Amino acid sequence: MTDVLPAATLPERGSGDRVLAARSGIAARPSVLFVSHTGTMSGAELVLRDAVQPWTGSTAFLFEDGALTDALRGQGLEIRLPRRRTSLAALRRDASPLSALPVLGRLGALVLEIARAARACDVVYANSQKAFLLSAFAARCVGRPLVWHLHDILDSAHFGRAQRIAQVCLANLCATRVIVPSEAAARAFVQGGGRRSLIRIVPNGLDLDRDPRPAAALRAELGLPAGPLVGVFSRIAPWKGQDVLIEALARLPGLHCIVVGAPLFGEDAYAAHLRDLVAKYRLSDRITFLGQRDDVPRLMQAVDVVVHPSVDPEPFGRTLVEAMRVGVPVVATDAGASAEILDGGAAGTLVPPRRPDRLAAALSELLDNPDAFAPRTDLARERALSRYGADRMQRALADIILQVAGRA
Ligand code: UDP
Repeated sequence: MTDVLPAATLPERGSGDRVLAARSGIAARPSVLFVSHTGTMSGAELVLRDAVQPWTGSTAFLFEDGALTDALRGQGLEIRLPRRRTSLAALRRDASPLSALPVLGRLGALVLEIARAARACDVVYANSQKAFLLSAFAARCVGRPLVWHLHDILDSAHFGRAQRIAQVCLANLCATRVIVPSEAAARAFVQGGGRRSLIRIVPNGLDLDRDPRPAAALRAELGLPAGPLVGVFSRIAPWKGQDVLIEALARLPGLHCIVVGAPLFGEDAYAAHLRDLVAKYRLSDRITFLGQRDDVPRLMQAVDVVVHPSVDPEPFGRTLVEAMRVGVPVVATDAGASAEILDGGAAGTLVPPRRPDRLAAALSELLDNPDAFAPRTDLARERALSRYGADRMQRALADIILQVAGRA
């Protein structure tokens, strides 16, 4: 169950082991069961992929197979999948708890499978809301501490009332720690009735290399047009607000836009709505949909501005940090964690959500006079490097895991 070795003799398998060796001045390295309800890679799963780096040899239980399986296996985790595949797609965030009734038996079976895997580990770490709900029962069954990495804002914009109450009550009863990526997510948890003492704020962190080529060369290689170009880089979902950017584009003749991302969790109706909007405003020659990509930071370097138009509060926003890291100006809506990440607007431009007119005005100001915004972009890059690196996140998460395992 536990690797018991003096810290100094922990095998050096990479920077992850150094993180653990540095954190645990003592001997034991707990084994962790990481649980995710999805195998699809959106922001939370990319965070998990990076977070598990120090935990080679631990286990991941995924409710379904997907790109995350390979990513975690690649980090040296043992992968467990349920015996029977169960889609939890019907259990939407705004659905009544009664919608779980038809799959209740299956959920019970999943709890037992998680509990069996948890028995062989020291700590259970749930990486999503659905993973937490089932892990709460499983961890209780086998008496293991439970960490919930809450990647969401628990408010009425994102979850139905019954779901919020159920999650907060279960967290208060069963979670040993609740990790959130921002003050905004912490506030929402406490306002929803969550115990403040459970919370630890660990900003998401990431590493990436800047492409050394100039934007014009990248554009040519990617077949993107010359002239002013902006981009939005998020999965396609109503709360990500791509429609607001399209409305803003309609007010800015001559500006081109790339829309990167796909409807990963069944938001096909919204994707169709975006295409209808493009047709309505006759923008098909100025907006290019590139679909889901795995080279987002590189694509960002090809645009003049990264737009982050979320209409509901963001729990974090990795795409903001990616843009900051590669040194591209950001215009984001002031909702949730964006203001925290962008230093209240000092490291990027903040506009109110759901205001295409204000977004259009901000874009036009920036594109008309990019030099005036250069100091903000420099500050943003320094801020991203100093606050939002993967190593910093891994150390903070390791501290929490070691603490709840009683090894700190
Ligand atoms: N992303 C990606 N390919 C795409 C669109 C987005 O890899 O086509 C990545 C993006 O680079 C970022 C993550 O998905 O790292 C999204 O994280 P964020 O926190 O911004 O949003 P979330 O999806 O968690 O709400």
